[in-house]
Amino acid sequence: MKAFVTLTEESALEQARKADERIRAGDMTPLTGIPAAIKDNICTLGTRTTCSSKMLQNFVPPYNATVTERLQKAGIVMVGKTNLDEFAMGSSTENSAFFTTRNPWDTNRVPGGSSGGSAAAVAAGEAFYALGSDTGGSIRQPAGFCNIVGLKPTYGRVSRYGLVAFASSLDQIGPMTRDVTDCALVLNAIAGFDNCDSTSVPQPVPDYTQRLSGDLKGLKLGVPKEYFVEGMQPEVGHVMRAAVAKLEELGAAVAWEVSLPSTQYALAVYYIIAPSEASANLARYDGVKYGFSYTETDSMWDAMSKTRQHGFGPEVKRRIMLGTYALSAGYYDAYYLKAQKVRTLIRREFDQAFEKYDALITPTSPTVPFKRGEKTADPVQMYLSDVCTLPINIAGIPGLTVPAGFAGGLPVGMQILGKPFSEETLLRIGHAYQQATEWHKRRSGL
Ligand code: GLN
Repeated sequence: MKAFVTLTEESALEQARKADERIRAGDMTPLTGIPAAIKDNICTLGTRTTCSSKMLQNFVPPYNATVTERLQKAGIVMVGKTNLDEFAMGSSTENSAFFTTRNPWDTNRVPGGSSGGSAAAVAAGEAFYALGSDTGGSIRQPAGFCNIVGLKPTYGRVSRYGLVAFASSLDQIGPMTRDVTDCALVLNAIAGFDNCDSTSVPQPVPDYTQRLSGDLKGLKLGVPKEYFVEGMQPEVGHVMRAAVAKLEELGAAVAWEVSLPSTQYALAVYYIIAPSEASANLARYDGVKYGFSYTETDSMWDAMSKTRQHGFGPEVKRRIMLGTYALSAGYYDAYYLKAQKVRTLIRREFDQAFEKYDALITPTSPTVPFKRGEKTADPVQMYLSDVCTLPINIAGIPGLTVPAGFAGGLPVGMQILGKPFSEETLLRIGHAYQQATEWHKRRSGL
């Protein structure tokens, strides 16, 4: 499957020994001793954190991300670091500078991205859970493509300290797991305020396993029609209609024709804001402080420019150029500022919808996993695979994907959206759905 960039056998054995001691001493958490994987853009002290980029190929962080630290306290046995699209820019893991990860359901197809390594590792049973990061869908889309559960928490619910920054106002770390209960357990361990991240929110962390019950009585759900987009595979629509009907059977009241008209602008807004923030965040890779450094030259400027020329892959360069352009004098008002205004409209539409509904239900992706190489020649086609997930990051709200069925033998994910800090409700809906269905129990056989 090629899910891992780095395997950490030795430290895993050491952590497993420590976990055994803790378990013997009765000092354990539900995650103690459980083998798990961490996306390779999340810092791990002493273990290479490459972002699947030549730029950071040999970068060994001198500190842990807060989530890494928290999982270590919980007793993680980290088996390795997982592959991603370079700097988390992509939807198929084909932008990794090292190699492409395969989808365990069909190795000729992509696992999704950018957290494709994490998704493939969990789907194939190489790790019991994994962490991913999600800027525009990178947890949910690969989770949906690999038939696992993925949660993009509310912006600020989980600390971003130690997550290599892509687009700071959109990035969130979240769990990728086999089922909703595991998702709740991992969220319990990583959520909460962190002194090192001023955007993390000082709101108490509930026990997310507490509200996992079997029925959905009293819940109002909406199905926004704009998410059943043109170009969507009809089979995905069928799977989704059956999934929503199941939620109705479980006691939820469903409104089938909700409208969020600004959804159509989300892709354009994302591809202004995300590259703009990326161009600023990636300015730090100059070959001087850390990371790859081009030294075969006498001139400082030439060294910096060649470092970036050779260190970054084509998609990363495309984003830096887009962002630099959108932020430059004369274009800032026309693009960046306009995008921020539309961002507010998108957020308001969600706020209004959540006055009426407890959650919204959409497909996670408009298609089943596509073939390797199918979209690499056309970046816009690749960008379109995230139409259903991008608006959620733009609005900062939480989104959960759960396995919802199969089309032609390939997994289809259902996305459940809620107002800020409503993760408990989303998990409750996902859990009830899993109690009544068997999709999440299907394994790829690889
Ligand atoms: N596929 C989207 C992009 O390329 C989202 C990536 C992500 O969520 N990290 O930007």
